[in-house]
Amino acid sequence: MRDSDTQGGGGMNFDFTSDYQPSWETDDVSIFRNAARKFLESEFQPHIERWTSQGFIDKAAWRAAGSGGFLCPSVPEEYGGGGGSLAHHFAWLEELERITLGAAFGDAVHSGICAHYLLEFGTEDQKRLWLPKLVSGEVVCAIGMTEPGTGSDLQSVKTRAVKQENGFLINGQKTFITNGQNADLIILVAKTDPEARSKGISLILVDMSLPGVSRGRNLEKIGMHAADTSELFFEDVLVDSDAILGGEEGQGFYQLMNQLPQERLLIAIGAVASMETGLDLTLEYVKSRRAFGQAIFDFQNTKHRLAEAVTEARVARVFIDDCVERLLAGNLDSKVASMAKWWASQKQNEILDLCVQLHGGYGYMSEYPIARMWTDARVQKIYGGTNEIMKELIARHL
Ligand SMILES: Cc1cc2nc3c(=O)[nH]c(=O)nc-3n(C[C@H](O)[C@H](O)[C@H](O)COP(=O)(O)OP(=O)(O)OC[C@H]3O[C@@H](n4cnc5c(N)ncnc54)[C@H](O)[C@@H]3O)c2cc1C
Repeated sequence: MRDSDTQGGGGMNFDFTSDYQPSWETDDVSIFRNAARKFLESEFQPHIERWTSQGFIDKAAWRAAGSGGFLCPSVPEEYGGGGGSLAHHFAWLEELERITLGAAFGDAVHSGICAHYLLEFGTEDQKRLWLPKLVSGEVVCAIGMTEPGTGSDLQSVKTRAVKQENGFLINGQKTFITNGQNADLIILVAKTDPEARSKGISLILVDMSLPGVSRGRNLEKIGMHAADTSELFFEDVLVDSDAILGGEEGQGFYQLMNQLPQERLLIAIGAVASMETGLDLTLEYVKSRRAFGQAIFDFQNTKHRLAEAVTEARVARVFIDDCVERLLAGNLDSKVASMAKWWASQKQNEILDLCVQLHGGYGYMSEYPIARMWTDARVQKIYGGTNEIMKELIARHL
């Protein structure tokens, strides 16, 4: 049984999981979670305000997380990793939510997405070259799908990689790229054969220090202020032939489709931990704030709304844990992952909105973590495939 100390992220008011134990939280994962929490509270939490106002997370934080063994924990030891499973990474993501930083530290992209593209599809040389550096935090990784002209309609990307005698020449532009300012490596979605629609797409490992690569603005967002989200430009960038992920052209769309359920589940996991953290902060607040001679908590409206919200958070947790178990067993399909992504992110937004409301005017003040969590949550319904696209994917199976 998980105790509140294991799960709480610094003393929870409401223990969401004391009578519930997901199968994926093994003893080993709990030990990792405890270590992650201690690390995050001492090394990350004190810097959140500064990172939020400067618009990016210090590169040093990546190295610190790498030195602590928290990046890419599911990478096997032969590639420098901790030899754990994705469950370790999920526990780390939950702990990031508990300190209210969440996905603003773009590690779901780095460890949860990029490392797994390399592990799943990389050649042996690509794995040996990049994975140890991703694990240590020496290299920060990004994934470049979205372009100014196309997001949801991924097959319409315009970035081109034209075969040369000695490699590929890349021209194109990406936008909204998480880790865009800090990235040393990008897994770039490019067309190697524009006539071939999905079969013409390849994923290319592009070293961000190559001539012709440049970073645009660190984009100003309405939330996730600590995250560096950027435009990136590729102008006559020459990469070696062995920069194609897996070594074979035209596999990109298949590789993307294969990994998307995992990416969508990462968003859902963050959403559930965010709901729980927001509710915890709100319970603490409404029990201490007074109006009309009583605690805000004592108004029946407050109690009923919170009773509804903790019920929804529990339903979300059980559903998402089922998805985690499916993923770990290798059978999370696109339909169920899409359900998890749209529903959990929708509930996260609804619950955080309630949390802001119950904080009154203080809920609208940036210095209150609940305000930041509310603005950070909005994008969860947009990135990783919009919630409308999730419903399209589900509907295909109806
Ligand atoms: C903070 C942030 C971080 C991001 N990080 C990354 C990253 O690291 N890498 C990356 O590649 N991208 C990233 N993105 C991009 C993100 O994935 C896209 O914004 C998203 O996929 C939507 O694409 P779009 O913005 O072009 O919207 P559009 O595709 O133009 O969609 C606009 C609207 O139309 C709707 N729509 C589109 N097609 C359909 C349809 N068939 N049926 C019904 N409705 C439809 C959409 O749901 C949406 O409501 C990030 C975005 C943000 C905001």
